Amino acid sequence: MFRIGNGYDVHRLVEGRKLILGGVEIPHTLGLDGHSDADALLHALCDALLGAAGLGDLGHHFPDTDDQYKGISSLLLLEKVNDSLRAKGFHVVNTDATLVAQKPKLASHIPAMRQNIANTLGIAIDQVNVKATTTEKLGFTGREEGLAAYAVALIQKV
Ligand SMILES: [Zn+2]
Repeated sequence: MFRIGNGYDVHRLVEGRKLILGGVEIPHTLGLDGHSDADALLHALCDALLGAAGLGDLGHHFPDTDDQYKGISSLLLLEKVNDSLRAKGFHVVNTDATLVAQKPKLASHIPAMRQNIANTLGIAIDQVNVKATTTEKLGFTGREEGLAAYAVALIQKV
């Protein structure tokens, strides 16, 4: 049995916060604001995985009103999501994600993001794809007000 899911996440870019995407800290003048480490890539991916498994969404499982998730690494959230899928007998076939950001250039950090995700999900790096694009300076991402991430996931129960 195959099932698919999609996820979407946005965080505001602000001064005084780290920019963490796919568990990788990326040098930049701005970072993502949020309750956890605000890793939009991993949040979109978690939502895609939860969606595929019919398990709702990230905010439902890890409410931002709960202090135990304040500043938490989203790799830990991804690990917990993966555990939930495994408990239902699912494993991840592949994932694909697109980061939407005007700045900074993300391409050189993508291999490390893919490796972090693959390690956390217990799958091979070629089962995890991450892409980055700009919006040609259009919209909130183009104005560098925020960063968006889209993800899809295919899971299988064997
Ligand atoms: Zn988020």
